[in-house]
Amino acid sequence: MQPYAEMSTEELQELRKQLSAKYKEFQGKDLRLDMSRGKPSVEQLDLSMGMMDVLSSSDDLTCEDGTDCRNYGGLTGIREAKELIGDMMEVAPDYIIIYGNSSLNVMFDTVSRSMTHGVMGCTPWCKLDKVKFLCPVPGYDRHFAITQYFGIEMINVPMTPDGPDMDMVERLVAEDDSIKGIWCVPKYSNPTGTSYSDETVRRFARLKPAAPDFRIYWDNAYGVHHLYDHDQDHLIEILAECKRAGNPDMVYKFASTSKISFPGSGIAAIATSRNNLEDIEKQLKFQTISHDKVNQLRHVRYFGDIHGMVEHMRKHADILRPKFEAVIDTLERELGGLGIGTWTKPKGGYFIAFDSLDGCAKAIVARCKKAGLVMTGAGATYPYGKDPHDTNIRIAPSYPPLSDLILAMDLFALCTKIVSIDKILKDRAEAQ
Ligand code: PMP
Repeated sequence: MQPYAEMSTEELQELRKQLSAKYKEFQGKDLRLDMSRGKPSVEQLDLSMGMMDVLSSSDDLTCEDGTDCRNYGGLTGIREAKELIGDMMEVAPDYIIIYGNSSLNVMFDTVSRSMTHGVMGCTPWCKLDKVKFLCPVPGYDRHFAITQYFGIEMINVPMTPDGPDMDMVERLVAEDDSIKGIWCVPKYSNPTGTSYSDETVRRFARLKPAAPDFRIYWDNAYGVHHLYDHDQDHLIEILAECKRAGNPDMVYKFASTSKISFPGSGIAAIATSRNNLEDIEKQLKFQTISHDKVNQLRHVRYFGDIHGMVEHMRKHADILRPKFEAVIDTLERELGGLGIGTWTKPKGGYFIAFDSLDGCAKAIVARCKKAGLVMTGAGATYPYGKDPHDTNIRIAPSYPPLSDLILAMDLFALCTKIVSIDKILKDRAEAQ
């Protein structure tokens, strides 16, 4: 296919007319398609319905250590759940606190506690003139929303195919003690699907932050969310690597079963050093008497162990894989070689990131919306909603049925073509 930039103005104008006619046809279809959030599909939720049957009124809800799950107690979670989630997070059970239903909630809490009470005896962040976080971009909008909510200044760090630009991360954390954290989605990242390389993880563990209370917020939301059986990303375990590097307290690792069992009704956890756990527990005992141990037990009895969970994730992959492949196929078929966009090809996770020509992302998303397709808002993948080049669009293939997804991606490609032609023609007119 001929790149648009090499086509004459007349050729582009002619093509634009044909594409507009197709767009009008789409508008006539009265479509209502939603690809805005990375929610599991109904079919995926159905996979976990067996979880509703594992506990019944005649069951004994006593844990192995004698804890009665129906009652208060067990502030940091039941042992069985720590073992299951520990295997999922690749961390020993003793370094885990099981929380409630949401890892984002745990992250919010962690920032909140650091603001009001400080990290391991350091000055509470609210008493400092400036607090900053590094934000690899494009990244997860809800991470950025937490730091924005607390008035923390966010600094963009570009993502590379190996993870965040580590030269920049190393330099910034070493020279500025107001930088207190960095948001990371190390595996099958939201939204690029990128996994951090071994070199990146090693460099993270060896950071020399100026601030003693600097912490890496390692959100392992997609740790077991592979699309393929034989082509999977495996990362160096960050807690162990930090310990080896002499930085045992530098990382908080988060995860949940949201996209394994039921989003919003799963179990969430933090894994971190003993020192950090003690710091957290000092607050936790005021926050709650105990979390939902019945749900913890339900998860343990349903999955059995990590092997059960891995088997379960294969079923998710069987549903998700054709959707990811449909998106990539459409992008390659419709946009390949045109020079108007690039996209990632993740091996897991929930998202594909698309980059348009500079200054086109907002217009593409708006054009999709006018024809009945809702995408994640352009800019959402950047702090403050500001994508400096207006290029990044997050594609979330999980929720719509496959037939809708194929239609949606055809429309997306069409809108990308139209907006790109408009941009090229405008640039040419301005250059004259
Ligand atoms: N982290 C990342 C990177 C996510 O994409 C999501 C959304 N699924 C979450 C956290 C939210 O997780 P939870 O449901 O455990 O709050």
